[in-house]
Amino acid sequence: MKFHVKNVKETIPNDNITIVAATKYFTTDEMRELYKEGIHDFGENRDDAFLSKYPELQDLDITWHFIGTLQTKKVKKVIDKISYLHSLDNLKLAEEIDKRRETPLKCFLQVNISNEDSKHGLNIDEVLPFLQSVQVYKNIDIIGFMGMAEFTKDETVIHQEFQKLNDLQTLIYQELGIQYNELSIGMSNDYQIALEHGATFLRLGSVLFSKEV
Ligand SMILES: *Cc1c(COP(=O)(O)O)cnc(C)c1O
Repeated sequence: MKFHVKNVKETIPNDNITIVAATKYFTTDEMRELYKEGIHDFGENRDDAFLSKYPELQDLDITWHFIGTLQTKKVKKVIDKISYLHSLDNLKLAEEIDKRRETPLKCFLQVNISNEDSKHGLNIDEVLPFLQSVQVYKNIDIIGFMGMAEFTKDETVIHQEFQKLNDLQTLIYQELGIQYNELSIGMSNDYQIALEHGATFLRLGSVLFSKEV
């Protein structure tokens, strides 16, 4: 596998944007390659894969993110090993994390912004009440929103979907006086559009490598 980290970084103008490599594509040896090329943030989306990779990479100074659906019953094993959760979308999960974490966990609220049917993510109109309810959990530190745009070549659709999160940032500021500046949006096919909408964390997989030697 040949990586293009340098080329990808050249397309990202701002040093304050964190590239989180989506590790579902990579073996731990490949992750070591990526690490050498300057990627130190890794995001896994399955608990079993995470739990097998994590101990093998203990010698590296990795910041671990969990970017996929986390089942409540898997929280106990995973939660003290990660620094960020990108997929918080229900109160049961928040309650379990609050119980199991020693210190506050940085979380993105996952919001369903695409018109595709998805079981994951809060609907836009559920976000305000969720934020009000989640305040009781001292070990949940909401830092912003995560969203996935529809997989389409139509850039207008992608713009409209990311814009929903910008509108939500404004609404929440008006209603609660809290400015959520972090945004986990942008994958390989749409990260340039995500940057126009204020992305601060890009979750990138396929754009980092190519199969040809
Ligand atoms: C796989 C994955 C990504 C990255 O996907 P690419 O399109 O290959 O960049 C981002 N976010 C999540 C939640 C993923 O599962």
